[in-house]
Amino acid sequence: MIDINEFIMSNEAVIRLSFFLGVFAVMAIWEFITPRRALTVSKVMRWTNNLGLVFLNTFILRLLFPAAAVGVAVFSSEQGWGLFNYYDVTPVMAIIASVVIMDFVIYLQHVMVHAVPVLWRLHRVHHADLDYDVTTGARFHPIEIILSMLIKFATIMLLGPPVVAVVVFEVMLNATAMFNHANVRLNLVVDRWLRLFLVTPDMHRVHHSVEDDETNSNFGFSLPWWDRLFGTYRDQPRDGHENMTIGIRTFREPKMASWISGLLVMPFVGKTSGYVINRRQWHQEKGGLEDER
Ligand SMILES: [Zn+2]
Ligand SMILES: [Zn+2]
Repeated sequence: MIDINEFIMSNEAVIRLSFFLGVFAVMAIWEFITPRRALTVSKVMRWTNNLGLVFLNTFILRLLFPAAAVGVAVFSSEQGWGLFNYYDVTPVMAIIASVVIMDFVIYLQHVMVHAVPVLWRLHRVHHADLDYDVTTGARFHPIEIILSMLIKFATIMLLGPPVVAVVVFEVMLNATAMFNHANVRLNLVVDRWLRLFLVTPDMHRVHHSVEDDETNSNFGFSLPWWDRLFGTYRDQPRDGHENMTIGIRTFREPKMASWISGLLVMPFVGKTSGYVINRRQWHQEKGGLEDER
Protein backbone atom coordinates (compact mmCIF):
# COMPACT_ATOMS: atom_id res chain seq x y z
CA MET A 1 0.00 0.00 0.00
CA ILE A 2 2.94 2.33 0.73
CA ASP A 3 3.97 2.33 -2.92
CA ILE A 4 0.47 3.14 -4.12
CA ASN A 5 0.25 5.98 -1.60
CA GLU A 6 3.59 7.39 -2.71
CA PHE A 7 2.53 7.18 -6.36
CA ILE A 8 -0.73 8.98 -5.61
CA MET A 9 0.99 11.62 -3.47
CA SER A 10 3.48 12.54 -6.19
CA ASN A 11 1.02 12.35 -9.11
CA GLU A 12 -2.15 13.65 -7.47
CA ALA A 13 -2.26 16.92 -9.44
CA VAL A 14 -1.63 15.19 -12.78
CA ILE A 15 -4.26 12.49 -12.13
CA ARG A 16 -6.90 15.06 -11.24
CA LEU A 17 -6.02 17.44 -14.07
CA SER A 18 -6.16 14.60 -16.65
CA PHE A 19 -9.64 13.54 -15.52
CA PHE A 20 -10.79 17.16 -15.40
CA LEU A 21 -9.64 17.86 -18.98
CA GLY A 22 -10.95 14.53 -20.30
CA VAL A 23 -14.44 14.84 -18.81
CA PHE A 24 -14.58 18.56 -19.66
CA ALA A 25 -13.83 17.83 -23.33
CA VAL A 26 -16.48 15.09 -23.53
CA MET A 27 -19.16 17.28 -21.90
CA ALA A 28 -18.24 20.34 -24.00
CA ILE A 29 -18.61 18.35 -27.23
CA TRP A 30 -21.86 16.77 -26.00
CA GLU A 31 -23.24 20.25 -25.17
CA PHE A 32 -22.31 21.44 -28.64
CA ILE A 33 -24.07 18.51 -30.36
CA THR A 34 -27.29 18.32 -28.30
CA PRO A 35 -27.82 21.34 -26.03
CA ARG A 36 -30.78 21.17 -23.58
CA ARG A 37 -31.44 24.94 -23.42
CA ALA A 38 -30.41 28.00 -25.42
CA LEU A 39 -27.74 30.08 -23.63
CA THR A 40 -28.64 33.66 -22.67
CA VAL A 41 -25.03 34.81 -22.38
CA SER A 42 -22.41 34.07 -25.06
CA LYS A 43 -20.33 30.94 -24.52
CA VAL A 44 -17.05 32.86 -24.92
CA MET A 45 -18.03 35.25 -22.13
CA ARG A 46 -19.25 32.40 -19.90
CA TRP A 47 -16.21 30.22 -20.36
CA THR A 48 -13.67 33.05 -20.02
CA ASN A 49 -15.09 34.20 -16.69
CA ASN A 50 -16.16 30.88 -15.16
CA LEU A 51 -12.91 29.14 -16.09
CA GLY A 52 -10.95 32.22 -15.01
CA LEU A 53 -12.45 31.73 -11.55
CA VAL A 54 -11.57 28.01 -11.66
CA PHE A 55 -7.91 28.82 -12.43
CA LEU A 56 -7.82 31.39 -9.65
CA ASN A 57 -9.29 28.87 -7.17
CA THR A 58 -6.83 26.16 -8.19
CA PHE A 59 -3.95 28.59 -7.73
CA ILE A 60 -5.17 29.69 -4.27
CA LEU A 61 -5.72 26.09 -3.12
CA ARG A 62 -2.27 24.94 -4.26
CA LEU A 63 -0.73 27.92 -2.51
CA LEU A 64 -2.59 27.40 0.79
CA PHE A 65 -2.67 23.59 0.86
CA PRO A 66 0.21 22.21 -1.25
CA ALA A 67 -0.24 18.67 0.16
CA ALA A 68 -3.99 18.80 -0.64
CA ALA A 69 -6.56 16.29 0.70
CA VAL A 70 -4.37 13.25 -0.05
CA GLY A 71 -1.65 14.78 2.14
CA VAL A 72 -4.12 14.94 5.03
CA ALA A 73 -5.11 11.30 4.40
CA VAL A 74 -1.46 10.16 4.49
CA PHE A 75 -0.83 12.20 7.64
CA SER A 76 -3.95 10.75 9.34
CA SER A 77 -2.91 7.20 8.51
CA GLU A 78 0.61 7.84 9.90
CA GLN A 79 -0.94 9.17 13.10
CA GLY A 80 -3.50 6.36 13.28
CA TRP A 81 -6.34 8.93 13.25
CA GLY A 82 -9.86 8.24 12.08
CA LEU A 83 -12.32 5.38 11.95
CA PHE A 84 -10.67 3.28 9.24
CA ASN A 85 -7.17 3.67 10.66
CA TYR A 86 -8.46 2.53 14.02
CA TYR A 87 -10.65 -0.40 13.03
CA ASP A 88 -9.37 -3.17 10.81
CA VAL A 89 -11.63 -3.14 7.74
CA THR A 90 -10.88 -4.74 4.36
CA PRO A 91 -9.44 -2.15 1.91
CA VAL A 92 -12.33 -2.53 -0.57
CA MET A 93 -14.90 -1.99 2.19
CA ALA A 94 -12.96 1.01 3.50
CA ILE A 95 -12.73 2.57 0.02
CA ILE A 96 -16.43 2.12 -0.80
CA ALA A 97 -17.61 3.28 2.64
CA SER A 98 -15.25 6.29 2.59
CA VAL A 99 -16.42 7.48 -0.83
CA VAL A 100 -20.11 7.15 0.17
CA ILE A 101 -19.60 8.88 3.54
CA MET A 102 -17.58 11.74 1.99
CA ASP A 103 -20.37 12.24 -0.55
CA PHE A 104 -22.88 12.41 2.30
CA VAL A 105 -20.78 15.09 4.01
CA ILE A 106 -20.80 17.11 0.77
CA TYR A 107 -24.60 16.82 0.73
CA LEU A 108 -24.83 18.12 4.32
CA GLN A 109 -22.37 20.91 3.53
CA HIS A 110 -24.45 21.93 0.53
CA VAL A 111 -27.63 22.05 2.65
CA MET A 112 -25.71 24.12 5.22
CA VAL A 113 -24.50 26.75 2.74
CA HIS A 114 -28.11 27.24 1.65
CA ALA A 115 -29.46 27.38 5.22
CA VAL A 116 -27.01 29.80 6.86
CA PRO A 117 -27.50 33.33 5.45
CA VAL A 118 -23.82 34.35 5.50
CA LEU A 119 -22.73 31.11 3.82
CA TRP A 120 -25.50 31.51 1.25
CA ARG A 121 -23.87 34.82 0.24
CA LEU A 122 -20.78 32.82 -0.77
CA HIS A 123 -22.75 30.04 -2.43
CA ARG A 124 -24.79 32.62 -4.43
CA VAL A 125 -21.80 32.85 -6.79
CA HIS A 126 -22.52 29.29 -7.95
CA HIS A 127 -26.26 29.98 -8.28
CA ALA A 128 -26.14 33.41 -9.92
CA ASP A 129 -25.00 31.88 -13.22
CA LEU A 130 -27.64 32.98 -15.76
CA ASP A 131 -27.14 29.77 -17.73
CA TYR A 132 -26.30 26.23 -16.82
CA ASP A 133 -23.41 24.44 -18.48
CA VAL A 134 -20.27 22.39 -17.79
CA THR A 135 -18.42 25.48 -16.48
CA THR A 136 -21.17 26.19 -13.88
CA GLY A 137 -20.12 23.00 -12.12
CA ALA A 138 -16.76 24.42 -11.09
CA ARG A 139 -17.84 28.03 -10.48
CA PHE A 140 -17.48 28.77 -6.77
CA HIS A 141 -16.25 31.75 -4.77
CA PRO A 142 -12.64 31.23 -3.50
CA ILE A 143 -13.78 31.55 0.15
CA GLU A 144 -16.36 28.78 -0.37
CA ILE A 145 -13.65 26.62 -1.98
CA ILE A 146 -11.38 27.15 1.06
CA LEU A 147 -14.27 26.38 3.43
CA SER A 148 -15.04 23.16 1.51
CA MET A 149 -11.40 22.16 1.71
CA LEU A 150 -11.30 22.64 5.50
CA ILE A 151 -14.50 20.59 5.92
CA LYS A 152 -12.94 17.90 3.72
CA PHE A 153 -9.75 17.88 5.85
CA ALA A 154 -11.80 17.51 9.06
CA THR A 155 -13.83 14.68 7.50
CA ILE A 156 -10.64 12.87 6.45
CA MET A 157 -9.15 13.19 9.95
CA LEU A 158 -12.29 11.71 11.54
CA LEU A 159 -12.82 9.05 8.89
CA GLY A 160 -9.25 7.97 8.17
CA PRO A 161 -10.05 6.91 4.58
CA PRO A 162 -7.50 5.03 2.43
CA VAL A 163 -5.52 7.51 0.29
CA VAL A 164 -6.91 5.84 -2.86
CA ALA A 165 -10.45 6.59 -1.65
CA VAL A 166 -9.66 10.31 -1.37
CA VAL A 167 -8.40 10.50 -4.95
CA VAL A 168 -11.31 8.38 -6.24
CA PHE A 169 -13.73 10.65 -4.40
CA GLU A 170 -12.20 13.90 -5.67
CA VAL A 171 -12.07 12.68 -9.26
CA MET A 172 -15.65 11.38 -8.99
CA LEU A 173 -16.98 14.62 -7.48
CA ASN A 174 -15.24 16.71 -10.13
CA ALA A 175 -16.47 14.48 -12.97
CA THR A 176 -20.07 14.26 -11.73
CA ALA A 177 -20.18 18.04 -11.12
CA MET A 178 -19.24 18.64 -14.76
CA PHE A 179 -21.69 15.97 -15.93
CA ASN A 180 -24.70 17.10 -13.91
CA HIS A 181 -24.20 20.80 -14.70
CA ALA A 182 -23.82 20.15 -18.41
CA ASN A 183 -26.31 21.69 -20.81
CA VAL A 184 -26.94 18.32 -22.45
CA ARG A 185 -30.05 16.57 -23.63
CA LEU A 186 -30.38 13.09 -22.20
CA ASN A 187 -33.02 10.58 -23.25
CA LEU A 188 -35.81 10.81 -20.62
CA VAL A 189 -35.97 7.06 -20.04
CA VAL A 190 -32.16 6.91 -19.64
CA ASP A 191 -32.39 9.87 -17.24
CA ARG A 192 -35.00 8.13 -15.10
CA TRP A 193 -32.87 5.01 -14.73
CA LEU A 194 -29.58 6.84 -14.36
CA ARG A 195 -30.85 9.02 -11.52
CA LEU A 196 -31.42 5.97 -9.37
CA PHE A 197 -27.69 5.94 -8.70
CA LEU A 198 -26.28 9.17 -10.19
CA VAL A 199 -27.37 12.83 -10.15
CA THR A 200 -28.33 13.70 -13.75
CA PRO A 201 -28.29 17.15 -15.42
CA ASP A 202 -32.12 17.32 -15.35
CA MET A 203 -32.12 16.47 -11.64
CA HIS A 204 -29.56 19.09 -10.57
CA ARG A 205 -30.93 21.78 -12.92
CA VAL A 206 -34.02 21.99 -10.67
CA HIS A 207 -31.66 23.19 -7.91
CA HIS A 208 -30.59 26.16 -10.09
CA SER A 209 -34.12 27.54 -10.49
CA VAL A 210 -34.84 31.13 -9.30
CA GLU A 211 -37.77 29.78 -7.25
CA ASP A 212 -36.94 29.12 -3.57
CA ASP A 213 -38.85 25.86 -3.29
CA GLU A 214 -37.01 24.46 -6.31
CA THR A 215 -33.60 25.80 -5.25
CA ASN A 216 -34.06 24.11 -1.89
CA SER A 217 -34.17 20.66 -3.43
CA ASN A 218 -31.75 18.23 -5.07
CA PHE A 219 -28.64 19.14 -3.07
CA GLY A 220 -26.79 15.95 -4.05
CA PHE A 221 -23.72 16.24 -6.29
CA SER A 222 -22.88 12.63 -7.11
CA LEU A 223 -25.19 10.17 -5.35
CA PRO A 224 -28.94 10.96 -5.59
CA TRP A 225 -29.95 8.91 -2.55
CA TRP A 226 -29.46 11.60 0.12
CA ASP A 227 -32.15 13.83 -1.39
CA ARG A 228 -34.64 10.97 -1.51
CA LEU A 229 -33.70 9.80 1.99
CA PHE A 230 -33.87 13.23 3.64
CA GLY A 231 -36.90 14.62 1.82
CA THR A 232 -35.25 17.20 -0.45
CA TYR A 233 -35.88 15.38 -3.73
CA ARG A 234 -37.84 17.09 -6.50
CA ASP A 235 -38.44 15.33 -9.78
CA GLN A 236 -38.85 18.16 -12.33
CA PRO A 237 -39.05 21.99 -12.42
CA ARG A 238 -42.59 23.45 -12.40
CA ASP A 239 -42.15 25.31 -15.72
CA GLY A 240 -40.20 22.56 -17.48
CA HIS A 241 -36.48 22.50 -18.26
CA GLU A 242 -36.67 24.75 -21.31
CA ASN A 243 -38.88 27.43 -19.75
CA MET A 244 -37.62 27.56 -16.17
CA THR A 245 -35.58 30.62 -15.16
CA ILE A 246 -32.06 29.87 -13.96
CA GLY A 247 -30.11 32.01 -11.51
CA ILE A 248 -30.95 34.41 -8.69
CA ARG A 249 -33.61 37.13 -8.94
CA THR A 250 -31.44 39.98 -7.69
CA PHE A 251 -28.48 39.27 -9.99
CA ARG A 252 -29.72 39.42 -13.58
CA GLU A 253 -27.07 41.73 -15.10
CA PRO A 254 -24.13 39.95 -16.80
CA LYS A 255 -21.73 42.52 -15.26
CA MET A 256 -22.56 41.08 -11.82
CA ALA A 257 -23.66 37.53 -12.66
CA SER A 258 -21.11 36.70 -15.37
CA TRP A 259 -17.99 38.86 -15.06
CA ILE A 260 -15.31 37.50 -12.77
CA SER A 261 -15.06 40.89 -11.02
CA GLY A 262 -18.78 40.66 -10.15
CA LEU A 263 -18.45 37.06 -8.96
CA LEU A 264 -15.61 37.96 -6.58
CA VAL A 265 -17.47 40.85 -4.89
CA MET A 266 -20.92 39.20 -4.90
CA PRO A 267 -20.72 37.83 -1.30
CA PHE A 268 -20.17 41.37 -0.02
CA VAL A 269 -23.03 43.00 -1.94
CA GLY A 270 -26.41 43.87 -0.31
CA LYS A 271 -27.72 43.37 3.19
CA THR A 272 -27.50 40.03 4.99
CA SER A 273 -30.71 38.48 3.89
CA GLY A 274 -33.24 36.49 5.84
CA TYR A 275 -32.95 33.77 3.25
CA VAL A 276 -33.08 30.41 4.99
CA ILE A 277 -33.81 26.90 3.91
CA ASN A 278 -37.18 26.69 5.60
CA ARG A 279 -38.56 29.36 3.30
CA ARG A 280 -39.87 26.92 0.77
CA GLN A 281 -42.98 28.78 -0.37
CA TRP A 282 -42.67 31.27 -3.17
CA HIS A 283 -43.36 34.96 -2.67
CA GLN A 284 -46.71 34.90 -0.89
CA GLU A 285 -45.68 36.36 2.44
CA LYS A 286 -47.71 39.24 3.96
CA GLY A 287 -49.62 39.75 0.75
CA GLY A 288 -46.72 41.44 -1.06
CA LEU A 289 -43.73 40.46 -3.07
CA GLU A 290 -40.65 40.08 -0.97
CA ASP A 291 -37.25 39.72 -2.47
CA GLU A 292 -34.46 39.27 -0.01
CA ARG A 293 -32.17 37.07 -2.01
ZN1 LIG B 1 -26.67 25.09 -4.15
ZN1 LIG C 1 -25.01 23.38 -8.97
